[in-house]
Amino acid sequence: MRLLVTGGAGFIGSNYVRHVLKRTDADVTTLDALTYAGSKANLTDIDSPRHQFIEGDIRNRELVNDLVDDADIVVNFAAESHVDRSIDGADPFVSTNVGGTCALLDAAADTELERFIQVSTDEVYGEILEEKFTEDDSLSPRNPYAATKAGADHLAQSYYTTHNVPVVITRSSNNFGPRQHPEKLIPKLIQRASEEKSLPIYGDGSNIREWIYVEDNCRAIETVRKDGNIGEVYNIGSGDERTNLEVAHEVLDAVDANADLIEFVEDRPGHDQRYALDNSKLEALGWKPSWTFEEGLQQAVEYYLESETNS
Ligand code: NAD
Repeated sequence: MRLLVTGGAGFIGSNYVRHVLKRTDADVTTLDALTYAGSKANLTDIDSPRHQFIEGDIRNRELVNDLVDDADIVVNFAAESHVDRSIDGADPFVSTNVGGTCALLDAAADTELERFIQVSTDEVYGEILEEKFTEDDSLSPRNPYAATKAGADHLAQSYYTTHNVPVVITRSSNNFGPRQHPEKLIPKLIQRASEEKSLPIYGDGSNIREWIYVEDNCRAIETVRKDGNIGEVYNIGSGDERTNLEVAHEVLDAVDANADLIEFVEDRPGHDQRYALDNSKLEALGWKPSWTFEEGLQQAVEYYLESETNS
């Protein structure tokens, strides 16, 4: 099996590349443009003759055509992924998240791929104050990042219908764990708490997210890669919901820092109040989360504190 993993030098992608190399005999090609969010350092300890890294852009059609041609499976993680940056300027999000996905889908339309996995997000559904989103709910994204991811989902589904590209879409909730960029909530809180700096929390901290440990997302993507139905969407959530304020307190406890470091700051415009996913479709394939939030947080704290010591 030959896997093309785009965005594999980023947070989830680099965890996924490790996961797949350890558990399968696949040959893995990682394609990543090494934007500010990607780093070769995320892959340096991978020492496998079955892995090759290519620095390149998913919008480079010539390159992408060759790489997709040589693959059996494409897993597309490559994206601009930070909501705050998309509010400051949406152009790169449109270009990579929609345009780049389009280049990959066009390349896939001309091949005999087994699966094209489009890695998406719960944010495409918009917010939900009660109950949970199922895969049949309509998309109602409320920030530019989510809108571009929803655009990519629609495009991918249309390529399944019109070009028979074997698309499967995963929509996961908020991930956390090793190798996440320090601009994201949990690594930022860990780093700042360990340096006894203030922990900025948007608004009153009541926004709720469903946190999934990155390894559980990687396991879920593998489940979908093997057993998911082509043309379908699978939600990936942990069922573990927490307010941002609760997360901040758990981080403070985990690094043994003082609660008065919490500082409430002006809310993000259009800040979704709550996301929550119904997982039953994925669980019917035999997957369930294996990490609790506390176990995952312990791993993350150890990773970030060790990285700080070594840097
Ligand atoms: P990330 O920002 O850590 O990594 C993205 C990677 O894509 C980086 O290595 C970057 O260099 C690369 N990249 C960006 N533009 C590229 C381009 N044009 N060509 C090639 N490579 C490019 O993001 P992440 O948190 O690992 O997220 C990965 C995927 O999972 C994204 O598609 C994101 O939308 C999705 N997702 C993330 C979360 C989460 O909580 N992190 C939740 C649900 C879905």
